[in-house]
Amino acid sequence: MQALVLEKVRSLRLRDIAIAETLGLHDVRVRIHTVGICGSDVHYYQHGSIGPFVVREPMVLGHEAAGIVVETGSAVGILRPGDRVCMEPGIPDPNSHATRLGRYNLDPAVRFWATPPVHGCLRPTVIHPDTFTFKLPDNVSFAEGAMVEPLAVGMHAASKACLRPGDVAAVLGAGPIGTLTALAALAGGCSRVFITDVQPAKLALAATLGPITPINVREENPRELIRAATDGWGADVVFEATGAAAAAAQAIDLLCPGGCAVFIGMPGAPVSFDIVAAQVKEARIETVFRYAHVFPRALALMASGRINVRPLITDRFAFTEGVAAFDYACQMNPTSVKVQIEMP
Ligand code: ZN
Repeated sequence: MQALVLEKVRSLRLRDIAIAETLGLHDVRVRIHTVGICGSDVHYYQHGSIGPFVVREPMVLGHEAAGIVVETGSAVGILRPGDRVCMEPGIPDPNSHATRLGRYNLDPAVRFWATPPVHGCLRPTVIHPDTFTFKLPDNVSFAEGAMVEPLAVGMHAASKACLRPGDVAAVLGAGPIGTLTALAALAGGCSRVFITDVQPAKLALAATLGPITPINVREENPRELIRAATDGWGADVVFEATGAAAAAAQAIDLLCPGGCAVFIGMPGAPVSFDIVAAQVKEARIETVFRYAHVFPRALALMASGRINVRPLITDRFAFTEGVAAFDYACQMNPTSVKVQIEMP
């Protein structure tokens, strides 16, 4: 089948590739409709690796997908051919210790699309387990369905924070994950969210999505602004979504006493931070790695209108322009947030 294949670092091609797959009893075959380009896809394209995951053989990119069921295994219960769906891209070993604890995202054997050596979904069809395939509500488009995966990251972060109604949150970074985390925090009960970035266009877009106050860290001091807005107390929750070392170090500084910092962004190198500064606030520190059991909730929030991701989908490319889409994603206009690829 024709797929968007990362041959090696900096070399991406639309070409035929043979992928050995058979439809199991509990599997569905899905014709892919829309795929979002994620920061991790771009990172593999530019650098060939993320942490311990190294691209050693040609690999199909893409893990944020929605499509249509075209075939079902004989034991598939709910899904039927013609159903519009989105897919959770990480398949754990169902019998692993982590999976049995309900934390299947932490299963060391998880097979995650476009994480070497597992092929991704930028291809005409995929075979996927029915339990990781979710029906799109009628009012959720394929493009929105392909946003469920990054939204799930933000929702998982909001859950790890144990938000309480009325909390004030700060989100560091107004990229797709930061902005979706801000929406998840509001849906989770936050009264307002401060969001930081250096790109005015991204901040301006975020500010249109709800009670979200943009802070351009090139011009403004987030610590002072958040303190001024909270009578000197600080943010109840800080979500770090930049992966930048400086922002990660700042997260504790913005917190209120007893607050929670959630680290979402993945710094490229170890980051040091001031443990005493965290101790004197008894800061709770949480980390997230992808998500578990979040897709149905994300779809429910989209269907009810509580979360609207449509303004974040800024750029669309045809599959035949897939390489151009990635080159664009490497050098995006500041007004772009999420680039998606539509299959023919
Ligand atoms: Zn992603």
